[in-house]
Amino acid sequence: MPELPEVESIRRQLKPLLVGRYVTESNSHPSDKFIAAREIVGLGFEAVLRRGKYLLFILDNGSEMIIHLGMTGQLIPGLDLSDPHLRAWWKLDNDVILGYRDVRRFGRIRIYSSGEYEGTLKNLGPEPLSDDFTVDQFYDSLKRSNRKIKTQLLSQLPVAGVGNIYADEACFHAGIYPGVRKLTRAKTAELHHSIRKVLSRAVENGGTTLRDYVNVDGEQGNNQHYLVCYGRDGEPCINCGEELRRTIIDGRGTTFCRSCQRR
Ligand SMILES: [Zn+2]
Repeated sequence: MPELPEVESIRRQLKPLLVGRYVTESNSHPSDKFIAAREIVGLGFEAVLRRGKYLLFILDNGSEMIIHLGMTGQLIPGLDLSDPHLRAWWKLDNDVILGYRDVRRFGRIRIYSSGEYEGTLKNLGPEPLSDDFTVDQFYDSLKRSNRKIKTQLLSQLPVAGVGNIYADEACFHAGIYPGVRKLTRAKTAELHHSIRKVLSRAVENGGTTLRDYVNVDGEQGNNQHYLVCYGRDGEPCINCGEELRRTIIDGRGTTFCRSCQRR
């Protein structure tokens, strides 16, 4: 699933293609998940922003089109309209067609009045790479819940944009077992630092490609070569050499080191 770095990579490429352009024609699969794509014909793109794992297309009538890519969503200029996994498309005033392709159909397209969001987007925690994400705020937020740390991260409430890959990476770098429920302030500060480190490096590397993720140019990311924990169960820990283990935490596969991330 695309997490913050993958969505940010897509945003950076879409912005110059869309800003200043308007939509002349559009169509979508009739599913409720995608039908809102049709509502922006005649509207122009003022900005392409991101919150957590959501893409925000700011339109010139004060509304926003929000896209969550789900597991396998891809935004591809020039996508062949006969692609069997095409779910929506928008034709721009320069005749470029932006296609939304989504093999597993867990993605969603929504239209909101400016800032009037619902659901997860409404309750997202702060952006991890912004000044809004502070150790104090993070500590207070984690303290309010008794859920496991990894589950809290995946909830998007204490901080936005972290999914399974970067949760495992950040907990590993901070030496935190992802199944603990309480962190000291010092450990919270380490996790805060690790989240920023793993996400900013992944953005620099254009995201992580394990299966489906490709950017707007159809290219894979490069960050998979920098993962030291996620998906490496059975391989030696880079810190201590012990074999990394896999466990399930609240239903999510999780990789960790038994000696570096003690319970
Ligand atoms: Zn270790």
